[in-house]
Order: sequence, then C-alpha cells, then structure tokens
Amino acid sequence: MRITVLGSGSAFSTCGCNAGYLVDGRVLIDCGAPVPALVRRAATSIHAITLVLLTHFHADHSFMLPTILGARAFSDPAAPGSLVIGGPVGTREYITRLVVDGYGSHIRHEIDVNVAPEYVALQDGSDVELAGYRVQSHAVVHSTGPSLAYRLTDARGVSIGFSGDSELCGGLRRSMAGCDLYVCECTGWDGPTPGGHLWRDEVAGLMSANPGTRFLLSHLSERRNLPGALVAHDLLSLEISSAAT
Ligand SMILES: [Zn+2]
Repeated sequence: MRITVLGSGSAFSTCGCNAGYLVDGRVLIDCGAPVPALVRRAATSIHAITLVLLTHFHADHSFMLPTILGARAFSDPAAPGSLVIGGPVGTREYITRLVVDGYGSHIRHEIDVNVAPEYVALQDGSDVELAGYRVQSHAVVHSTGPSLAYRLTDARGVSIGFSGDSELCGGLRRSMAGCDLYVCECTGWDGPTPGGHLWRDEVAGLMSANPGTRFLLSHLSERRNLPGALVAHDLLSLEISSAAT
C-alpha cells in the first residue's frame, strides 16, 4: 500500500496544508488540502480517485471536496457513478450544502448528472468493502460529531489506520489495533490541546501500547520530533508492507 500525505498541517497551522491522504493513488482520506493541484504533483490524477472517506465535517478536512467534484463534473469524458463518498451519517447533506453554498445549484446539478457520486453512510462498527478495500469505522470523540477513525486493509492484508481528529477514547484505540501504519493526529506538543485533539505524551502512550504499529504523526501545529515516530510533511510518500517497512 502506498500512502501519500497531501496535507500534514492542523486547521490553522502554517507548517502544511490541511488534511488529505491518498492511498494507492485512488483512495482519498479527508479533503482539506488543495487536492486537484497536489495529486498532479504526486504524479496521479483526481480521475484515478474512486473512493473518498471523510472523517468528520470540519472545514480543514472537507472544504476542498467541492473542487474535486466540480473538476470531475466538467471533465471530458464524464464518468458518472465512478466515485464513492463515505463518511459519517449526514455526509451527503453536508457535501450538498458545501457545493450549493460555494458554487450554486447549477454546479450541484452538473455534479449530480456527470459525477453522480454514490454516498455511503458509515458509523461505529461499520465493516464494509469499498473500492477493493476493507474499510472499518470507529467512532471517536472530537469537538464536532459524528467523527470517525478508519482502518483500510488491502487484498494482501496490509492495513493503514487514520485517526482523523480525536481525543483519547476507546474508538481511537480500537482503530489502531494491528495496523501496519497508523496516521495519527498530533495537534499539540507541549500540553493538552483544546478541541478534542491529541498531544505528544498521549501519542507516545499509544505508541507504547501498539509496538507492532508504525506511527506517522500528522495534523501538526508545528513539525517536531517524537522518538520512534515518523513525522509527516506534505507530499511525503511511503510504501507500506505488512512488516511496516
Ligand atoms: Zn476537526
């Protein structure tokens, strides 16, 4: 499995774009980063994306999704029905509102006709196959709800987890169990961070409890080091095997 970080920064940081992660060039986890421009720099295309998973409805995780939908709607040839969008209950209504508020009903119509995305509502305990991956969802605790962490497993059994935004909670711990790589938010470094986030000492504790999982820290307010963890930067790309190499 190849993961490419499109955005490694937290909502208001200046050390990286907002959240966005690409798996194997075709699954997009969150969409706060300027994905249409960045996927080109990652040597792929928005037209290769077959699945988008949103962790929650904060702007830094979702506000660029209308640009992808619009770009797909006006592509030639259009390919309606080739995109699945999964997320918490309410994702369809939330994305529709973003499109209409941002670009108007005309663009919503173009997207409905030319993209016709299939929406899949996910919740705690969901365990489904989407776009050729096993997708497991875990409810996590954040300042907006509902919020989900995901675990993606490919046909070879390699798995990558994504915390989304979360404070310490049972769902977060369950989402990382057995992952080869875990993309973990680390918004704070020197102390607890308000808004339902993790900070360095909490992440270090999670790492100690999951010694077989490699941690990639992202959603960063600033880029610092935590011994034993990888630290994300925009356009970092890693090939992950079952041995987390
Ligand atoms: Zn958030």
